[in-house]
Amino acid sequence: MPYNPIVISDRLAAITLDLEEDHAGFYDILSYEATASLPEMVGWFEKNRIPLSIFVAGNFIERNSQILEGLSSPEFHSHGYWHPPLDRMWQTEVRQRNIRDGIAAFESFFKRKPAGYRAGCGAIKEEDFALLKESGVEFDSSFFTGIHVSGIHLFRSSRPRWYSPPGFVEIPISAHPLFRFPLSLSYMKLIGPALFSFPQQIGWGLHPLVFDFHLHDLVETSKTKALSPFWKWVYERGAAGKVMLDWISMVRDQGVEFVSMNQLNARLAAKARGF
Ligand SMILES: [Zn+2]
Repeated sequence: MPYNPIVISDRLAAITLDLEEDHAGFYDILSYEATASLPEMVGWFEKNRIPLSIFVAGNFIERNSQILEGLSSPEFHSHGYWHPPLDRMWQTEVRQRNIRDGIAAFESFFKRKPAGYRAGCGAIKEEDFALLKESGVEFDSSFFTGIHVSGIHLFRSSRPRWYSPPGFVEIPISAHPLFRFPLSLSYMKLIGPALFSFPQQIGWGLHPLVFDFHLHDLVETSKTKALSPFWKWVYERGAAGKVMLDWISMVRDQGVEFVSMNQLNARLAAKARGF
């Protein structure tokens, strides 16, 4: 599908949380133990005046509406309905149904359409953008741009894209400029935060930076204990909260401006309209 890369020189960063069941995609039974940490975590972003954008899954909204009602500051977008099993998630019917059901659950709680969409595990294809657009969504932020469970996208650029038609923005999740690991807390814990800090410090920071994390990256749940040895090692390493907050502070000290996904989309769409 033809698109134009959207080049911006402003140093912008968006922090995004994927709000979903614990360890989404690993288990058939949905649980939400990590959710208890949500209000406190949101409070940290409020106190530090850093916009937080949350992509929330439909199944989460249906089972945890009470905790969502207590939150006023974050910006909410749709994270589809759920994380389909890996062997089915690329089927057209599964992807498109996830979009429809996710948006329906979002709308029935928030009483509005989501402005942004992020597919579980990044399982989206460009052909789905028409459906998103006609569902009232303005931008997608599902693409991973390096090594990820959704596949290996080594040569996919981190640059936002403008697809016309249908007139739609895609804002990929950033990857490390050299090593192509996603800029997400789970990879930062796995590989160590230093690797993710140096591009910022030497001026190789991406424009924009889109950072991604989950509550189960931050807190241990009973499911963490049941993971296979490899995933257990991934999820249990390091004091995750500290790793993330230190990284955010470092980015801020470099003079990067934090924006919400709506603010970022507005800047990108304004630029794209000039094409
Ligand atoms: Zn997810």
